[in-house]
This record gives sequence, structure tokens and C-alpha cells, in this order.
Amino acid sequence: MTLRTPQAHSANGLDTLSGAHQQLADAVAQLGYDDGMHQTLATPRREMTVAIPLRRDHGAVEVFTGYRVQHNLSRGPGKGGIRFSPHVDLPEVRALAMWMTWKCALLDIPYGGAKGGVRVDPSELSVAELERLVRRYTSELGAFLGPDVDIPAPDVGTNEQTMAWMMDTYSVNRGRTTLGVVTGKPLGLGGSRGRASATSRGVALIALRALEDLGIGVQHGTVAVQGFGKVGRDAARFLNDAGLRVVAVSDQYGAVHNDRGLDIAGLISHVDATGSVDLYPGGAPIPREVLLELPVDLLVPAAVENVITEENARSVRARLIVEGANGPTTPAADEILARQGTIVVPDILANAGGVLVSYFEWVQGNQSYWWTETDINERLSVRMLDAWNQIRASSELTGRTLRETAMLIAVERVATAHRSRGLYP
Ligand code: NAD
Repeated sequence: MTLRTPQAHSANGLDTLSGAHQQLADAVAQLGYDDGMHQTLATPRREMTVAIPLRRDHGAVEVFTGYRVQHNLSRGPGKGGIRFSPHVDLPEVRALAMWMTWKCALLDIPYGGAKGGVRVDPSELSVAELERLVRRYTSELGAFLGPDVDIPAPDVGTNEQTMAWMMDTYSVNRGRTTLGVVTGKPLGLGGSRGRASATSRGVALIALRALEDLGIGVQHGTVAVQGFGKVGRDAARFLNDAGLRVVAVSDQYGAVHNDRGLDIAGLISHVDATGSVDLYPGGAPIPREVLLELPVDLLVPAAVENVITEENARSVRARLIVEGANGPTTPAADEILARQGTIVVPDILANAGGVLVSYFEWVQGNQSYWWTETDINERLSVRMLDAWNQIRASSELTGRTLRETAMLIAVERVATAHRSRGLYP
């Protein structure tokens, strides 16, 4: 048997958490809350760390570590994705869970915030191993999941198959099929129309509206997209379809650039065939980090957190950043960007299309009644643009950044729920 000791928390996870705490502290200071409320809002309600013993295909056993953090449950059950990555650690999951709380409150979705993850590189496991890992992880957390308790969804390194296995494991253990325990399921198994591309659709919708409202112009605008996974790929496609020129995209293996605009359909075929944007013949290779510094109208970071930092923020030449990823901009970078006039549409609004349609999926599953794709896309559009209009108007009035404004609205809603519920006992 191979013994795998969980690695120490990465500096990245701690940085991410400290950024999330900083954003909350700033909002709390603006709202004038006392220390008790600050602690209530900052502290996760429940955190679970589980050991996941996995029998590998060759017979040996390895033990992986999984997490689930339920940051806040004051407005409803926990809600948030499951991440499979070798970089996952508890501080990172805490930060991501906290952002889910603010995102759900901002979009007025009746959920709290949660997040989970397993410290594993899923590409190193066979499909059968992955299935055993998912099922054991789900089983270990089973008592703390459920349609009224905590509802996972896909995130980095997981997908609708992961959700199907989670739903099945939970359902078998309970003796009844429970569709509402996860969202982001396959269409044939209680999934919602429009869910797979919902995050990207929301990113593109908000980006186009922001370009228009801020007078940057859509017609010949240029875009760079970092990350070409579930969020980045369709965001690039939607923006390209809307008439923008996507001049650069990247993934963890490489980046390609073409001033005349990349052929997104061709690029998608290349990625489907090779697994990466790297070596795409329709563009020239560039170093991945250069993508963030290109002179574009719109930059969409849609990969991982902490990519726009104190070190590179001054080199960012995009006029508008729309955060497809969670936490791509550190608080120090945020300050620099604000000073140099770069507008940032924050993650808790920009990428909220995913949780919004997850909510629609949960509502449909609970009612056993399915909406059309047109219904879904219309409801997504109305709710996201309402939130955009509210944040933009308030930001214009107060001079606060879009992120500060969004955080104030979200944090105040969660605090109000706490006050109305009171403190038990
Ligand atoms: P994914 O695993 O499908 O794709 C991630 C992409 O980022 C891949 O193309 C990967 O190669 C790339 N990448 C990783 N590190 C990179 C780096 N250093 N430079 C450039 N590219 C890099 O994950 P996803 O679901 O697309 O999630 C991306 C981000 O969006 C995450 O921050 C996630 O939390 C956030 N998000 C996802 C959803 C959703 O519905 N999937 C919803 C809201 C927010």
C-alpha cells in the first residue's frame, strides 16, 4: 500500500483566502458593522476534511484528501462547485465558499455559499478510478449534502459526469432518486437546458453590456481570454459571435495570438483533437503571461485565481476586465487597476450565470417540470442585467468601484438575514 501524506497548504490558497478576507473587511468597514457581525460573516459555518482511500486499477491503495466548506447558510442551503486539482487546499476552498455566499446574495438566489474540492490531478486517474474517488468523497460527505442542505456543482476539473456519479451515490445511500442534491447534471438526468454554457453566456452578456454602457464599443472591439475550459471556451465563442475579435486565448499549456482575430470554431476543433490551444496553426504562440498584458479592449480571465497581481497589474492594457474566473484579481492589483482607470467587473457578478442556471435546474428538479432553453436564457439575461444595472448605477453615484459596490450589496443582504433570524439560543 502507498501512503500519501496530504501536502501542506500552498501559499496560493492562503493568498486567495487573505484576498477574500480583505474584500469582506473593506465592505464591513464601509457598512459600519461591529466586530461580532464581522466575525459572523467571516467564519465558515461548517468545514469538513475527509480522507478518500482509493483502490487504484493496479491494486494499490492511495489516500486522497477532500474538503467541503459551508461558509454561510443564513439565506438558504449551501451552494457551490467541487474542484479537482492538485492545488486544492482548505484555505482556497474557504475563500471560494465565501465568494459563493456573496454571489448568491448579489443575484438574490435563496442559497448560502459553499465549495468543495479534492487535492488530486484528475488527468492522472483512469475513468474507473475517478468514479470510485467521486463516490467515496460523496459518501463521506453524505450527511452534510442534500437539496435542502448543500448542493454541489461542477468547477475546475469536474464536469456533468462527476455530478451524475454524485447524484447516484447520494440517491443509492438514501434509497431514492434525489435530483436536487447536485446541479450541472447531464441533460438526460435532471440537468437543465442551458446550464453547460450558462457561466460563459453570463460573462459574454455582462461584457457586451459593460462595453456598451462604458462607451468602449462593441463593433471592432478586441478580446483576450485566459483559460479555455468550461467557462473560457464558450465565452470566447459568444463574444466572437457578437462581433468582437478574439485575438488571444490561453490554457495551462500555452497561448495563441492573432491580431486579425482567431477562428474560434477552428480553435475549438483543435482543442477537441489535441487537448490544448497550444500549437494551434491559426495563430502565433506567445508566452502565457503575455496574454494578460495585450492592448485589448476586453480581458476575460477565465482560468484560476490570483493571476492579476501587484506584479503585473501596471502592465495590463485592457480597458475592461470581466472576471470569468473566481478571484483572478488580488486586492493589491485591484487598487492599481482602479488608479489607472481599468474597469473591473467582479467575479461575483460576471460569472454568476452558472449558479443562476444551477438554481433554475434545482427549481425545475424540485418541481419535476422542465423549462425551455428560451425560458432559461431569458431569465438568466433579465436577472444578470438587473444586477448589472443596480451595481453600475450605485457605483456611478458613490464613486466606488464595481467590486466594492457589489460587495456592499451582497454583504448587507447576508447581514440582514442574520439579523432577521436572530441568534440561537
Ligand atoms: P475548467 O477546468 O473547465 O477550465 C480551466 C481552464 O483554465 C483550462 O483551459 C485550463 O487549461 C486553464 N488554465 C489553468 N491554469 C491556467 C493558467 N495558469 N493560465 C492559463 N490557463 C490556465 O474550469 P472552469 O469550469 O472553466 O472554471 C474556470 C474558472 O471559472 C474557475 O475560477 C472557476 O471557479 C470559475 N467558475 C466556473 C463556473 C462553471 O460553471 N464552471 C462558474 C463560475 C465560476
